[in-house]
Formats: sequence, structure tokens, C-alpha cells
Amino acid sequence: MKENTTDNIKVLVRVRPFDHRENNSNNQTTKCVFADEISNVIELKGKTNNAQGTFKFDFVRNEQSSQRAIFSTIGESVVEKFLEGFHGCVIAYGQTGAGKTYTMQGFGDAIENEGEDDAENNKSNDVGLIPRALRRIFEFTKNTASDDEDVTHEVTCAYLEIYNEQLTDLLSSGDGNGDCIAMDGMMVEDSGNNTGSIPSFGSFSGGELAIREDPKKGTFVENLTKVKVNSAEETYEAFLRGSARRRVGETEMNRNSSRSHSVFSVTLTSTTRGRTTKEKKRTLHLVDLAGSERQKATEATGARLKEASAINKSLSALGNVIKSLVDVANGRDRHVAFRDSKLTWLLKDALGGNAKCAVIACVSPALINADETASTLKFANRAKLVKVRAQVNERAFHNHMNFGNTPYKSKANSNNNN
Ligand code: ADP
Ligand code: MG
Repeated sequence: MKENTTDNIKVLVRVRPFDHRENNSNNQTTKCVFADEISNVIELKGKTNNAQGTFKFDFVRNEQSSQRAIFSTIGESVVEKFLEGFHGCVIAYGQTGAGKTYTMQGFGDAIENEGEDDAENNKSNDVGLIPRALRRIFEFTKNTASDDEDVTHEVTCAYLEIYNEQLTDLLSSGDGNGDCIAMDGMMVEDSGNNTGSIPSFGSFSGGELAIREDPKKGTFVENLTKVKVNSAEETYEAFLRGSARRRVGETEMNRNSSRSHSVFSVTLTSTTRGRTTKEKKRTLHLVDLAGSERQKATEATGARLKEASAINKSLSALGNVIKSLVDVANGRDRHVAFRDSKLTWLLKDALGGNAKCAVIACVSPALINADETASTLKFANRAKLVKVRAQVNERAFHNHMNFGNTPYKSKANSNNNN
């Protein structure tokens, strides 16, 4: 029997420690966020009523919480469900500097902490949720691939950025200057229907990638490069390369990467061959959102204003989609405007139903950020009310059947009413 479960989006709020700059400045280290890890309550003591109150979440983690603790609290369960056959999604939300990238990637480029099992105090390479998830995925594929039962796994990854409502392929084989980023030993595939064709070039000046919907495949990005990977190290290397390209775009195109959304996606296809062959295919989206802070009126003129509103479009659409999904969870018949932005359209299947979904809301402890922290907590407070009904994505076929035409049995999504 297929497992079909209803669950809420799981929400963890993580408070980061004061940083060096804040510690060196007297007026910036007034603390206004108090995290109780036992009751999972955050108390916010700002100076205005708008930035005050107590909020309860699935999980609350304080300034001392380790990367390992964050993974075991909220990342691991999504990954385990992903390995069982569910789609998965982990989204980092919060203002710039609140710890989203630290939480998802970690500090430095290492995939593994030295002496991880002995000590938690090695902060120099404090690896984040993405490398931890990758290690677990490949531990699974190694342990469960079997010659006897004829079980095989294939892992591919893709990485894209949404900036100004435009999608950029961060793993495409060229950046418009003829450089090749394909790694040795890695096959670069075309993800569109024309298999075998040369992957499209996604340049920073606007590789026009389009989002499409397919009754069988669900929402997908046309011509997005998928890279076949054989180990956690190789996958993480692809992630780091894509991240480096984001930074190149930042300097060369005068872009502000804290204003872009990035989505790193890992797809695992597991095939069990027998009299009937079964295939499970699922995707895990790991999302590092643009900073949620409101653009200050003084900063936003001309191109920056256009940029700010485009960024706000994806983030405010995300807020609206979450609001509508809460109504749907409460039994109201609501239109959910997934297509109002690239981000929400891309994450439609994840947010709208068929995925195990977690949100990590990152906040600063400092009083100067109280207003933004309040808005992050309000977003997180709504997200925890969204219900998702996810199903294992498996198809079975007798060996004489035409495999290509067998749809995945995954009809769990009742919210896709747009
Ligand atoms: P964001 O991606 O949300 O803009 P970052 O993840 O880049 O923010 O974090 C800003 C700074 O704070 C970085 O130098 C990062 O290493 C540090 N930092 C963030 N969260 C933590 C944490 N929980 N523990 C230690 N340092 C952190
Ligand atoms: Mg960041």
C-alpha cells in the first residue's frame, strides 16, 4: 500500500548569535529575542507593540544550537521521508544576515566536520544542512543498492537562481563565455524532452528558463541542467560551483545575491527490478530565500526599485500563497495563486501538497532587528498552519509494458486549483 499522510509544514525558528560587528558595537547588542527550547516558544521584546509577543513553533533553537542539532531536529525527518519516496522541501527564510546560508550550507566549503562525533565545538568548518542531507542520501543509496534484489539508484542534481523574476541555471555547461563547468566523470543531461541535445546556456544576463506544468511530471523547469552524481562529495562540489557562479553574477552584473532566491534540487530515482518493476522518483528542494527585509525607500530607485519589487513579488507571493493555504487547511475553498511568482510556481508541488515540507525561520537576536524579526515570526507562524498531504511517488509496471507511459500514482494534491 502506498503511504499517504497529512501533516503540517514543520517550522523551526533559529536564533543566531550576535556577530562580530554587533559585539563590537555597544548599541547593537541589546537582546530582544528569547528562545525557550523546551516549550518551543520565542519571546520577542521589541520597543513597539508590533514587535512584541510570544510565538510557539514546532521547534525553537537558540544561539547555542549546533548545526548537527538543526539537522537532526528538522532536516533529517524530511530526508528520511524523501528516502522512503516522498518529495521533500526545506526552505530557509529570514532577513539578510539572519543565518539562512549558514543554516543551509554552513561555514566554509567542507562537507564533513572533523571529529564530528567527538565534539561539537569545531566551528571552523561547521557544515550545514545541505551537506548533511547529501551524506545521508548517499549512505542510503550505498546501503540499499543490491545485486540480489536488483535495486539501483540514480541521483541527479539541479541548481537555479531566481533574480528579478528570472531563472538562471547555475549548473549549465557554459556561462555565455564558453567556459565549461561540467565536471570530470559527470554526465550533463538535458532535462527537456529532447534528450541528447546540448544543455541550454543559462547566462547571467538572463538565461530564459521557463517553468512548465506537465500532468505526469508536475511542475518543472524546462531545459534546466541536471547533473548525474555518484557521491555526496560530487554533489556538494556541484552545489559549490553553482554557488560560486551566483557570486560571479553578483560582481560582474552588479547584483546583490541577498536579493535572489536559490533552489538546489536533488532527485533520487530508485528502481527495483523483478516480475514487476517498481520505480520511485522523488525530488528534494533545498531553498535559500532572498532576504525578507523590506527595501528601504531611500535605497530603492531606478533599477534597484525594479529589482526590489520583483524580489518582493516572489516573497510577497509566497506570503499570499501561505495565507491561502492556511484557509484551505481550515476547510475554506480558496484559489491559491501559485502562478503569481516564479518562486511559488516552482515550489507549487512542494507547498501545495505532495511533499514533506519544512521551514527554517532565521532571526537575529538584536533589538535593532526587532521589526524584521517580528515579520519573520509572523510568516513562520502562518506557515506552521499549512497542511500538506504527501504520497510516495512510485510507479509499477509489468516488464512487457511501455514504461514511458505509466504515470506516477501521486494524486495527493487537492490544493492545485489555479
Ligand atoms: P543570510 O544568509 O541569512 O544572509 P548568513 O547565513 O550569511 O545570513 O549569516 C550572516 C553571518 O552570521 C555569517 O557570517 C554567518 O557565518 C554568521 N552566522 C549566522 N548564523 C550563525 C550561527 N547560528 N552560528 C554562528 N554564526 C552564524
Ligand atoms: Mg545568504
